[in-house]
Amino acid sequence: MPDRPALDEESRQRGRERALEARRRRAEIKKHLATGGPVEEVLALRAVDPAVGRMKVRDLVEACPGIGQVRATRILAECQVAESRRLRGLGEHQVSGLVRALQGERPGARRGRLLVLSGPSGVGKSSVVTRLRAAHPDLHFSVSATTRPPREGEMDGVHYHFVDRDRFEQMIAGGQLLEWAEFAGHLYGTPVAPVDAALDAGHDVLLEIELQGARQVRDSAPDAVRVFLAPPSWDVLVERLQGRRTEPDDVIARRLETARVELAAEGEFNHRVVNTSVDQAAEEILALLD
Ligand code: 5GP
Repeated sequence: MPDRPALDEESRQRGRERALEARRRRAEIKKHLATGGPVEEVLALRAVDPAVGRMKVRDLVEACPGIGQVRATRILAECQVAESRRLRGLGEHQVSGLVRALQGERPGARRGRLLVLSGPSGVGKSSVVTRLRAAHPDLHFSVSATTRPPREGEMDGVHYHFVDRDRFEQMIAGGQLLEWAEFAGHLYGTPVAPVDAALDAGHDVLLEIELQGARQVRDSAPDAVRVFLAPPSWDVLVERLQGRRTEPDDVIARRLETARVELAAEGEFNHRVVNTSVDQAAEEILALLD
């Protein structure tokens, strides 16, 4: 057997640091699960966070509150997951099975509803979403994957899963996205497994996505409640986008151009809500779910 090339001390040190960092990350994830963090959120991270991808499925199951070794063995067997399996090796079917088993699925329970919120960039979707989540804590918010770089204050796994193009294309090829689209030069998509799992568990799920994605959902999930959030006027939209100062001028110009196209498509939605104030828009949307 040929000798393996000797690693220099610097590479070994880097390897040790990476391993330590991965262990730290897994300990953080286990703590999150032990304190009631949603398992579907962690499972969704397996595709974008290598440290999570390498975590053993058994470790994830045992980290969930109230699950000991015996119950973990039963859950793994029921979901047909091998003892040595790591999160990155799970198929979509195994993921939904695990989420159901860990949430103690109630037979005959009501499936949640899918709520799609769309509307031009700058209309205030994120503020309305924040208000909706505060008013309806049971609403499951889908965290999208994107190739766009994070803005200041945005956190990976919370606001978006920030991934590179290769990873995103793998997700498309692996059928892991419910819908996806290219917007202003970047890719955006909705990971399907956490959405399915939350709906199966009876939670309503909110997707905040752009027009092309909303069209794909209309075709694949015709029962979804599709809401178009409109600005009070075109001038207000221009003001909001220009006042945001999170993007350079050429990006804003591109977003405004797309906004014109998006505004013309509002007739494709089941409902139209004008965002005159965040409170009023959120209230109207919640009334649609009731
Ligand atoms: P931003 O870069 O401002 O966060 O988002 C740009 C646009 O992409 C927004 O209109 C937002 O609603 C949309 N978007 C965010 N996530 C997704 C997704 O998963 N799929 C699609 N189709 N659009 C998304």
